[in-house]
Amino acid sequence: QNPVSFASKIRGELARSFVLSVGEVSITVCIAVVEADIDTNEESFLRDADVAMYAAKRSGSLKFALFDKNIHESIKDRIELKNDLTLALDRDEFFVMYQPVVDMASGEIVGFEALVRWQHPSRGLVEPMKFIPLAEENGKIVQLGRVVMQKAIAKIAQTNASFRGLAPELILNVNLSIIELEESDICEFIRDVLHENLFRPELLIVELTESVFIHDPKLISSKLSELHDIGVRIAIDDFGTGYSSLSYLDSLAVDCLKIDKSFTDHFLEDASSVTMKTIIKLAKDLNLKLVAEGIEEKLQADELVRLGCQFGQGYFYSKPMMGYTLNSFLANRQSVSQQSRQRFASNRSDDTGEFEISTRQRF
Ligand code: C2E
Ligand code: CA
Ligand code: CA
Repeated sequence: QNPVSFASKIRGELARSFVLSVGEVSITVCIAVVEADIDTNEESFLRDADVAMYAAKRSGSLKFALFDKNIHESIKDRIELKNDLTLALDRDEFFVMYQPVVDMASGEIVGFEALVRWQHPSRGLVEPMKFIPLAEENGKIVQLGRVVMQKAIAKIAQTNASFRGLAPELILNVNLSIIELEESDICEFIRDVLHENLFRPELLIVELTESVFIHDPKLISSKLSELHDIGVRIAIDDFGTGYSSLSYLDSLAVDCLKIDKSFTDHFLEDASSVTMKTIIKLAKDLNLKLVAEGIEEKLQADELVRLGCQFGQGYFYSKPMMGYTLNSFLANRQSVSQQSRQRFASNRSDDTGEFEISTRQRF
C-alpha cells in the first residue's frame, strides 16, 4: 500500500475524538515514514525515522513526513546537536559571557546581562540562538538554565566583592525560558543560589521574553509574584515584538522593559521614532525601568537619552565579554571616572577621595 494513503488512513481513524469520564478528548497524530529493506541498518533506520518525525511535527496541520535524505540534512544536524546537549551538560561545556548595561547619560555601568555560550568539542563555539530552542524542546533548558544562573550569580557576587566600597553594586540580568519558569521549584532554586553567594535578591533581574505572556497568564502571574516575594526583579525582554496585549503590564509584577533591537535599529528614521517615544512614555507612566537593546552607534545613544530612555545595551558600549575580563574592564572605566572626578574635585568640599557614586536613579 502507498505509505501516504496508509498514513492518512491512520490519521483519519485517530482524529476522531473519544468520550471519557472527564469529557471529550482528541489527540493529534504525527506520522513519519521511512522506507527500508531487509538490509537496512537498525540504527540508521531509527535515526532517519527521528529526522522524519521532526519534519512531521513541523509540517503544520499535515503532521506527516516521508524521510528524504537530501532535504533532511539540516534537520539531522539539529538532532545531532540536540543529542549532544546532554553530554555537554555533563562535560561542563557551557560558559557565560557578560554584556554591560549602561546608564547612558553618565556612562556608568550599572550591571551585566548573562549570555550563555557552548564550547562544542568539534563544532567550536555555538551561539545560543542555535541551541536554546533545542534545549527547550528536550527539556535540557532547565538544567542549562541552572548552570547559567549559578555561574553568573557567583561571578557577579565575586566582582561586587572586589569593588566593595569603591563602586555601587552591579546588577545581574539572567534570561529565563518559560519552561524554566514552569518548574515548580524555580523560586527555591534561585533563592538558594542567591543565599549561597550572599547576593542580594534586588540585584538579580530575571528576563522573560514578551511572547511568554500570551502563554498561561495565570501561571505566569503567580510565578512572577513568587519571584517578587523573594525580592528578585523582572524584566520583559524583546519588548514590542511579542504581539501581546499590554494589559498584563498593569497587573503583573514587572519592573523593567527591554526595548527590542529592531526598534533601536530604525527609530532614527522619522516614522519609527513615534513608536520609540510611545514606549518611553509608557514606561514612564507605568514607572518601569527602560533599557534599549542593540545600540550600535553613538547617534542612537544620544537620541535615546534625549527622548528620556535612561539605560542602554549594545555593541556601541561593549560586546558580551568573558567573565575573567570583568574586573579589568570595570577598573579601567572606574579610573576614567576617577580622573574626571579629580578634575572637578577642587570645586567640591565633600570630596571623600572615593569613586563617584551616581546620584541619578540607579537600576
Ligand atoms: P537576548 O536576550 O535578546 O540577548 C541579546 C542578544 O543580542 C545577545 O545575543 C547579544 O550578544 C546580542 N547583542 C547585544 N548587543 C548587540 C548589538 O549592538 N548588535 C547586535 N547585532 N547584537 C547585539 P546572544 O548572546 O547570541 O543571545 C541570543 C539570545 O539567546 C538572547 O537574546 C536570549 O534570548 C537567548 N539566550 C542567551 N543566553 C541565554 C540563557 O542563559 N538562557 C536563555 N533561556 N536564553 C538565553
Ligand atoms: Ca535578554
Ligand atoms: Ca532582547
